[in-house]
Amino acid sequence: KAKDEGRNVLRFFDPAMQTTLDERIGLERDLRLALDLGQFTPFYQAQVDREGRVLGAEVLLRWQHPERGMVSPAEFIPLAEATGLILPIGQWVLESACRQIDHWSGNDRLQHVRLAVNVSAREFRQPDFVDQVKHVLSETGADPARLRLELTESMVLEDVGGTFEKMEALKQLGIGFALDDFGTGHSSLAYLTRLPLDTLKIDSSFVFNLPDSHNDAVVAQTIISMARSLGLNVIAEGVETEAQRDFLALNHCHVYQGYLFSRPVPLEDFEKFCAASLEN
Ligand code: C2E
Ligand code: MG
Ligand code: MG
Ligand code: MG
Repeated sequence: KAKDEGRNVLRFFDPAMQTTLDERIGLERDLRLALDLGQFTPFYQAQVDREGRVLGAEVLLRWQHPERGMVSPAEFIPLAEATGLILPIGQWVLESACRQIDHWSGNDRLQHVRLAVNVSAREFRQPDFVDQVKHVLSETGADPARLRLELTESMVLEDVGGTFEKMEALKQLGIGFALDDFGTGHSSLAYLTRLPLDTLKIDSSFVFNLPDSHNDAVVAQTIISMARSLGLNVIAEGVETEAQRDFLALNHCHVYQGYLFSRPVPLEDFEKFCAASLEN
């Protein structure tokens, strides 16, 4: 016991740790205010087919901090998850995506665009998650067929029964599901085949070293052929080079997301990108 306390005391007075702690408390305080202060902006990253046509976009949240500038989601999403702030933030992202979908309906150039929204485990685990989504859909009038939710392997495996039921209920509404960062978790493949998924996203870590890395090439090929055999769409994430895209195309992956096509960008830029892609 005394030993444990000793260790805690030591840790507490470690100046580096203290700075990290202050930093975290500061960031957390600011994060609590960010929603009300209108500091979040949804960015859109195109998902394109072989001809470069935009099929959809992933919504990626950006936080414009008054002093720190743009804070990366890699930094604030884990904090939002740990504090529970991800619940109101996630709700806001979903609402904004659904409002955007509804906004585009009737616009020849944009009404086909599907929006993919990332959903954290903590959001999805809420007992009334399905009702929340239904509510947002009816409030905004968005076509559920244009909405796709991105889940990760770990959250799906966390609560097999609950996940399955919620996914089924949302699928009934017409919503699609993508499994994000596929290949990085520890999926039970048998179990995966039972989920009402429509898309697998090959994690960028397997794309990065294509086509040179033999191991990554094998992983990518395996994911693609598995997806195809299961009748799922497959999207490659983090495509930065022609060589990566060509390898993927040769191996029958025909939808791509990555800097080669577009970075995540604000709404106006995304709309311009869509318009330009139709002119090719
Ligand atoms: P993710 O869902 O796997 O999103 C893909 C990430 O890869 C994004 O990072 C995107 O900007 C980045 N990316 C796309 N193409 C390329 C490329 O060609 N090269 C490289 N190097 N990176 C590329 P971002 O925007 O920093 O987001 C990081 C993560 O934060 C996301 O990973 C997602 O897990 C989470 N996130 C972002 N927005 C939201 C949100 O609204 N809600 C939740 N729950 N999580 C979010
Ligand atoms: Mg994602
Ligand atoms: Mg991903
Ligand atoms: Mg992710």
